[in-house]
Amino acid sequence: MNISDDGNWLEGARHARSPNSDERPAGVPLSLIVVHGISLPPGEYGGPWIDALFTNQLDPDGHPYFRNIAALRVSSHLLIRRDGEMVQYVPFHGRAWHAGPSCYRGCEACNDFSIGIELEGQDEEPYAEAQYHQLAAVIRLLRKHFPHIGPDDVVGHCDIAPGRKTDPGPAFDWQKLRALL
Ligand SMILES: [Zn+2]
Repeated sequence: MNISDDGNWLEGARHARSPNSDERPAGVPLSLIVVHGISLPPGEYGGPWIDALFTNQLDPDGHPYFRNIAALRVSSHLLIRRDGEMVQYVPFHGRAWHAGPSCYRGCEACNDFSIGIELEGQDEEPYAEAQYHQLAAVIRLLRKHFPHIGPDDVVGHCDIAPGRKTDPGPAFDWQKLRALL
C-alpha cells in the first residue's frame, strides 16, 4: 500500500472517480480523518450500490430504500469493504462530500480539512477484522503524508455531527483501532 507522489491516490486501491467533490479552501491544512459506516441497502454487503451512489448512478427503482437517497450528491475519499477491498472515489487533496454540517474542536464544515473513510457495515454489527487492518494501515500512511493529522485526529462521523449521525456506531471498536495504530 502506498500513496502516489502527488499525494492524491492510494496505490493498490480500486479507483472510481466521483463527480461529487470540489476544491478544498486554500490555506486550511488537512488535519482530520473521519470514519463512517455505510451499507446499501442497509444491512446488505457486497453489492455495487455504494459505488453507484458515490458516482450518481444509483437507480431509484433498484430498491425501495434507494428512492430517498438516489438524488443525494455525496462521496467519500475511501471505502473499505468487508473483505478489506479498498475503493477510492476522490483524490485526497480534493474535498469529498461526506461529513455534512459538522464541527471538530470548534472548526465547522469538516469536509474542508478532513479525509472521509467509509467502512462497509452498520452501527450494531461488528466490523470485519480485515477492515480494521486496512483502516489502520491507511491511517498510518496518511499521517505520514499529511503531518497535520495528529494521533487523536481520527474520529467517527457521530463525533463531529452528534445528534444527527450515529456511524460508525457502537459496534466500531476504537480500542482495537488504536492498538493497531
Ligand atoms: Zn457518515
